[in-house]
Amino acid sequence: LGPTVCVGEILVEIVATTVGDGFLEAQPLVGPFASGAPAIFISQCGRLGGKAAMVGAVGDDDFGRVNTDRLKRDGVDVSAISIDADYPTGSAFVRYRADGSRDFVYNIATSAAARFGWSQTVGDLIDRSGHLHVMGSALSVPSAREVIEKAVDIVRARGGTLSVDPNIRRELKLDEDTERRFSKLVAAADLLLPTGEELERAAGVEGEAEAIRRLFEMGVKEIVLKRGVNGATYFGRQGDRIDAPAFVVQEVDPTGAGDCFGGAYLTCRRLGMSQKQALTYASAAGARNVMVLGPMEGAGTRQELDAFIASTERRR
Ligand code: ADP
Repeated sequence: LGPTVCVGEILVEIVATTVGDGFLEAQPLVGPFASGAPAIFISQCGRLGGKAAMVGAVGDDDFGRVNTDRLKRDGVDVSAISIDADYPTGSAFVRYRADGSRDFVYNIATSAAARFGWSQTVGDLIDRSGHLHVMGSALSVPSAREVIEKAVDIVRARGGTLSVDPNIRRELKLDEDTERRFSKLVAAADLLLPTGEELERAAGVEGEAEAIRRLFEMGVKEIVLKRGVNGATYFGRQGDRIDAPAFVVQEVDPTGAGDCFGGAYLTCRRLGMSQKQALTYASAAGARNVMVLGPMEGAGTRQELDAFIASTERRR
């Protein structure tokens, strides 16, 4: 079985340590933390001992090295992360508001994260990968789209599998061409990992049951719906369903929960576990990651997740 390959943006995140509105005054910040949804996902895969590799780009700077060093330590193959000599590593400044919503200042569109392309190294990796994980949102970045669509075609033609995190908010309007590409990507997913909002957006219909039905009609093979503190649900094509309650933890920083959850679910399945067992590890990975500041600082190893599961209560 070839490695799980994740394609997409690699960033650092710098987080305000106080809660409030935006960045208009000087304030204490912490970071840089390794980040970018696909990078968080693959970090969790690597930490769990799955074969994992990342495709993306960073600048030739310390923010880039924060990411590549971290992923290497997690056991992720970073040879297909290109180092852009002309553009810096992408970054995001984040501050939480009292109501839990967040203010962001992004430098992504003019960073290395928006500029990676196909190369011989990327092609060689995709040629031997067994599974591909991508974000639907990346389709609106032209360079990422090209790499993703090419990689999806190659991996599927070889009998490899695909997981998709739609990562598209309800109100986001895509142009007609991107919308069509998004639907095509969703339809090709062996595993779709949406939140409730993304489920309806990806299906193009309202209501959970209706959206699930529509997505299976489109061609999706299995769906794992993420519901935050309300847990997660596996849906199979035969109408089978498994509910997994969330663990009871103190949430410090919700960023990255869904990506750790997804990376853990996928890796456990690829390591041969049942859906139910994979859901338990995934729920533990998501919950453990929200307990600390930083988007992937709480991603756990198998041993850490086993200890967490044994010692933590579940909701309901
Ligand atoms: P996303 O980060 O993509 O919005 P969720 O917030 O639903 O996704 O988180 C994914 C999973 O992580 C949830 O299904 C749950 O199992 C776990 N999780 C997330 N937040 C918490 C929390 N505060 N307490 C316990 N588990 C959580």
